[in-house]
Amino acid sequence: MSPEVKPDYLISPEGLRLDGRRPDELRPIEFEVGVLKTADGSAMIKQGKTHIIAAVYGPRELHPRHLTLNDKAYLRCVYRMATFSVPDRKRPAPSRREREISMVITNALEPALFLEDFPRAVVDVFIQVIQADGGTRCAAINAASLALADAGIPMRSLVPAVAVGKADGTLIVDLGDMEDKYGEGDVPMAILPSTGEITLLQQDGSFTKEELLEAMQMGLNACKYIHELQKEALKRAYLKRAPEAGSEGEDEEEDYEDDLETDLGESELPEEEE
Ligand code: UDP
Repeated sequence: MSPEVKPDYLISPEGLRLDGRRPDELRPIEFEVGVLKTADGSAMIKQGKTHIIAAVYGPRELHPRHLTLNDKAYLRCVYRMATFSVPDRKRPAPSRREREISMVITNALEPALFLEDFPRAVVDVFIQVIQADGGTRCAAINAASLALADAGIPMRSLVPAVAVGKADGTLIVDLGDMEDKYGEGDVPMAILPSTGEITLLQQDGSFTKEELLEAMQMGLNACKYIHELQKEALKRAYLKRAPEAGSEGEDEEEDYEDDLETDLGESELPEEEE
């Protein structure tokens, strides 16, 4: 693979980004809920080239026991990048960055959950980055909150997240890897849409006060859009599962019976008389 080359510019003279997006345009986002059959809940996100799977187990008995919280469940999020998720092989041992991201994801998700309903238990959230192309902490939050809902963990709301950054002096939403590496900074954020509460807000690089306020407003709008996509993905998953929801299911059964009748009927058709 040829070594990465720093681009001459991140915003073209026409005002477009490296991948042709407008500054306020998100990458295409695809969610799928219930992708792992053995987990209590799971979800997948593809956000541009970033690809992540989240699995939830619990509430269940907590080990090691010394972590037990008497008044609520312990939310244990583990963010990891696969060794093959980036072109330069990622070392398999957990890095400081992975530990830090695991912690910020826990903090971003916890306010959405009624953990007090499950004292002394643990809710495990395992997040695996399959392919990283920027914005993995936010994409991980998007997928993990869907996986928690899929596991039936009582929640105040889903948690959408996105990063807003700055490239060539222009504020941009949902940074790709090159924008993250060569841009002037980024502000990942997550919100609880039900209350407007911000559960993640970090800043890398320097922004003026006006830029920061505008970036947050752009992030808020993007989060509202992502929240709609999350809700649609959850609905799709439940429609697919609920047998009574599908008159479709009934139709399929009828079709099957029709097929059987046709098959049997044909095999038993009397020979036509001349
Ligand atoms: N990255 C990488 N190798 C690593 C860690 C990160 O190539 O070991 C890349 C990856 O594409 C990631 C990006 O750097 O998405 C930005 O990382 P950052 O820490 O800013 O987190 P993110 O933007 O993914 O939330």
